[in-house]
Amino acid sequence: MTQIPQDHPRYKSLITRENTVEGVEKGITSIQGLIAQGRGEAFDYLIGECSTDSAKQAERVAVSYLFIAENPVISVNGNTAALVPDELVVLSDITGSSLEVNLFHRSKKRIDRIVEHLESHGARNVLGVKGDSTLDLSHDRRLVDHDGIYGADVVLVPLEDGDRCETLSKMNKVVIAIDLNPLSRTSRCANVTIIDNITRAFENMLQHADEMKSFTDDQFKDIIDNYDNNQVISSALHEIENRLKTLSKEFGKT
Ligand code: ATP
Repeated sequence: MTQIPQDHPRYKSLITRENTVEGVEKGITSIQGLIAQGRGEAFDYLIGECSTDSAKQAERVAVSYLFIAENPVISVNGNTAALVPDELVVLSDITGSSLEVNLFHRSKKRIDRIVEHLESHGARNVLGVKGDSTLDLSHDRRLVDHDGIYGADVVLVPLEDGDRCETLSKMNKVVIAIDLNPLSRTSRCANVTIIDNITRAFENMLQHADEMKSFTDDQFKDIIDNYDNNQVISSALHEIENRLKTLSKEFGKT
């Protein structure tokens, strides 16, 4: 991995980029995953490379859903596995969620590599190898495990493609998306849209999960009932708008 000096002003972002490249080199992440990462970086610049208040609110609601669900599943693709392997394992352990590998560019070799990678970070019973059920989709993301995503009531889909998100919503599952692009189809069709970098989103969700692990179901329901996802997407767009307005004024003065 290229050495990034720790005092570099964009250290975190560059490390994330390096981890994605390493994911490709290990055969975990698809080459197309690099393009997705680049698109995410562009939106992260617009957001200001920090977790906004509305993102933190969505992250809290996401954790509430995972705790309250009967069969929660965290879907894992190649970028997610490369960027947050430890965090995936801890979040799944605390909230009792299953991990299931689900890939657009699916091959047995890549699925096996991701499973092994997650296991090397402490995961057990990773789903997704069987792919014994199908969603109403024409690409390989249709292949899911019957005991996993197919029967799940809540699915966390980090860095998703819009098609599957829509299909899962139509199956009346609660879909939680993590996507830096507030305008993607995924962001617009999820029940909970976390507009944040996946690295920060998992860090925040783990903190919330630790704080909330002894909450009652009524407390979780209260948090969920007071949540408005359209408002969160609108806030993210306003935050970008305000940031651009402020920056354009600053440049206008010079
Ligand atoms: P849609 O079909 O929903 O419109 P898309 O075609 O843009 O989505 P992909 O190309 O699969 O979907 O991209 C995945 C999404 O993940 C992109 O919208 C991108 O902004 C987002 N993304 C990439 N890297 C990160 C990251 N590190 N953290 C959060 N989001 C990210």
